[in-house]
Amino acid sequence: MTLFSLSTILSGQQPMLIAGPCGVESRQQLRQTAEGIAKIPGIHALRGGLWKPRTRPNSFEGMGEAGVAWMTEIREEFQLPIITEVARAQHVEICLKNNFDALWIGARTVANPFSVQEIADALKGTNIPIFIKNPIHADLALWIGAIERIQNAGIGEIVAIHRGFSTGAPTLYRNQPLWEIPIALKTTIPEIPIICDPSHIAGKRELLQPVAQKAMDLGMNGWMIESHFAPDEALSDAQQQITPEALQALIASITLRIESDSETENCVELNQWRKSIDEIDQEIIQLLGERMKIAEEIGAFKKEKGITIFSLPRWKEILESRQDLGEQSGLTLRFLKTYLEAIHAESIRHQERVMNSKE
Ligand code: PEP
Ligand code: MN
Repeated sequence: MTLFSLSTILSGQQPMLIAGPCGVESRQQLRQTAEGIAKIPGIHALRGGLWKPRTRPNSFEGMGEAGVAWMTEIREEFQLPIITEVARAQHVEICLKNNFDALWIGARTVANPFSVQEIADALKGTNIPIFIKNPIHADLALWIGAIERIQNAGIGEIVAIHRGFSTGAPTLYRNQPLWEIPIALKTTIPEIPIICDPSHIAGKRELLQPVAQKAMDLGMNGWMIESHFAPDEALSDAQQQITPEALQALIASITLRIESDSETENCVELNQWRKSIDEIDQEIIQLLGERMKIAEEIGAFKKEKGITIFSLPRWKEILESRQDLGEQSGLTLRFLKTYLEAIHAESIRHQERVMNSKE
């Protein structure tokens, strides 16, 4: 019998909460952690990694099948649903045989369509809920592709997990959140709930709370958070794990928000602000059109003079000269750069069109 009903959880008032150690290390470690986790109000399932995909060999790679019985004991004793990571068909088979309540596919596996397909094939004919993490790097299509493969296997209950992205850029986070990517996923497949994994985004304890809060502010459906009874002694991801007691305090500190309701939707002020935003967007789009017309004039001029479309000094000047105004206007440098790059690319396309025309 399954203890875990996704539809009941999602229709409830509380966000979905899945917590537990990064890795299952021993019967005693799992038990002591689960005792604390089971006491957290609003806990829905215990996570525990049995097979740990580690970046480097000779790290703790999980207890594998040996840990299965420890998890199933907890399930029976505490009536706490259990969930673990699967990366191959064999993992799926073991978990199905042992009545796991749900499974997740990790970020490294999601990046590999062959592995995802192998898991999908092993899931055919079952209806266990599957959680799918975003791939390690910021590739929305790969994330969607993994979801589609699992859907095509006939799985009806799928939840996406946002665990941040490895970008190579130095950042405060272990994995950059790039919130626009889960937002794009929601826009593309609105029926798939998304929960946030603040642990793998933050990489360190002090950043967990703001990341968990932000996920709620963006309307995500819950969290998967790593918790260990003695975090400093954890064999993997020690710096980001917190005790069940600290997790309970973290959850209690979160401000929950509602997406919207008829009262807020009919609020006069909100509608007024939205109208102003609509008007500003219209003006911006019209101005961008005018900017592109000028770019076309420049394109015609450059064609006549036989000079290149792209000019590095001019592009550098544009990037630098707009920074102060951007800052004064309260724009982040990251946004301004993305915006200018998009405009510059479009401007080049307009100039190219003129250059390649027959006249
Ligand atoms: C994990 O959840 O412990 C894990 C390995 O996560 P990810 O796949 O997000 O790196
Ligand atoms: Mn981990």
